[in-house]
Amino acid sequence: MTQVTNHYLSWIDVDNEMHSEMLQPDQSPITLGRSDVAEVEVFNTSVSRLHLEFVWLAGAWHVKDLNSSFGTWIGNAKLQPDEVVALKQDTEIKLGNLSLWYEMRGEHETQEMFQTCFRPTTQNEEMEFSSEFNDFRVKLLFLLQENFGDNTLNVNLIKNIDSELHQLITAQEARLKEQRILNSISHILNRSLTLSELLKTSLNLVSKVLNAERGFVVLNHLNGKDHQFFALRHFDELVWSDDSGVEQDYSQALVKRCFEQNKILIIGDTEVNAALADVNSVKNGGGRSIVVIPLVQEDDVIGVIYLDNQQLPHNFTPEQIPFLTTFAAHTSIALHNSMLYRRAITDDLTQLYTRQHVDEALAEQIWQSQINKKPLSLLILDLDHFKRVNDNFGHTMGDQVLQGFSEIIKSQTRQHDVVGRFGGEEFVVILPNTDIFAAHELAERIRLATEKHPFTKGEESIWVTVSIGAASFQHHSDHNALLLLENADTALYQAKAQGRNQTVSFS
Ligand code: GH3
Ligand code: MG
Ligand code: MG
Repeated sequence: MTQVTNHYLSWIDVDNEMHSEMLQPDQSPITLGRSDVAEVEVFNTSVSRLHLEFVWLAGAWHVKDLNSSFGTWIGNAKLQPDEVVALKQDTEIKLGNLSLWYEMRGEHETQEMFQTCFRPTTQNEEMEFSSEFNDFRVKLLFLLQENFGDNTLNVNLIKNIDSELHQLITAQEARLKEQRILNSISHILNRSLTLSELLKTSLNLVSKVLNAERGFVVLNHLNGKDHQFFALRHFDELVWSDDSGVEQDYSQALVKRCFEQNKILIIGDTEVNAALADVNSVKNGGGRSIVVIPLVQEDDVIGVIYLDNQQLPHNFTPEQIPFLTTFAAHTSIALHNSMLYRRAITDDLTQLYTRQHVDEALAEQIWQSQINKKPLSLLILDLDHFKRVNDNFGHTMGDQVLQGFSEIIKSQTRQHDVVGRFGGEEFVVILPNTDIFAAHELAERIRLATEKHPFTKGEESIWVTVSIGAASFQHHSDHNALLLLENADTALYQAKAQGRNQTVSFS
């Protein structure tokens, strides 16, 4: 039996309403924009009249910007004119302050999921609701007329009941809306596997629901090391940064309390709340209303989500606590999953990717490179005479050198490069959008930085060198990941044979 896959595009509009469109694979592109000329119409001022189009190519949906005013972002990269990028499961497409998600689902999964999670309120349901409400009022009026003669009194009574009921219904509708969003959030979060993806998605969603202007995540004990680490979403960007790199423009006191007390804490308005010790740092950042939400694993707070606002109409209130509690529970579970995943693809000693993950990433990058006709290069790096380091200085020193060397590679590479340990003292770097010449240059930078770097053991310093093989992916049909690795390996072998401590590019 063949599995039918459906493709969906989802977003939350300015009224916090969840929308979902099915993308039907077809020959013709599907346009998205703010006008009714677009096949998918989105009401948001960041969206141009005809903003982008989805193109079905080689069995996958791709996205292309149509010269929109504010641009289209996939991850942190803005789409270039004429650039066509393939969508993967849960790719986030950003148009100004609007985020859209792309998803693939099996047919049965879809029905269930979209009926329970993504069902927008239909016009019909709302009418039913208000007609029930009207019936109730009419019945009440008759009852009053039958029992009490004075009609002006009755009309006044009805008015009071009206306003009470209105409040009740509005609150109830808000709860329903939150519930729908929570369902979608739990579903979306559980599909985000990497930590960055998860934190970004989760900050985006909660910021949108609460109208927050800024959001941070403060994580504790990341990678088992006892230091704090930040994911920072300042308006649209998500930046990783450690403690020292972040401006002190938020309340560290509040974050600390959240870590200690495992409680959602809300400061409605810093102008009237005197209890905050470091209120000035909050004002530096322009914050006025703050909420901090603990993320918990077993009984430990492992992270804190920090949101703030400048504008009082959007200040945080205790009524949001039930929503935030459920949100925190969903995010905590997803965070736990993503940490497990992270551990599975990370080499313990060096914190670089494992060989298995590099293999998967390479297949993916080759595919992207073929579609976008962009260059792709690969380095294999092998420390020279590493056995001697172990023999002369001990295995522990050997391990330290491997860790130090990993840091050198990381310091020379970009965020989108994939750096892995292939095993032993052999490493690999995948370089997207990089031709063989640029790859060679980078390899030389790593080689020279390594040669110059002293590794110390007590009083003693030792130096190591590295040999590097570089190769580029060739855009013809019979070139593949295996050949690319073989070519880089051949170049590395040549570098070793020619005397080590050098880079050779495969030609
Ligand atoms: P070449 O210049 O030809 O690469 O020589 P080499 O000594 O580096 O190469 P060889 O493959 O003979 O030895 C690699 C050594 O790396 C053998 C092993 O002791 C060491 N090694 C592999 N994995 C680890 C590790 O996790 N920690 C430590 N300390 N050493 C390791
Ligand atoms: Mg070696
Ligand atoms: Mg080796």
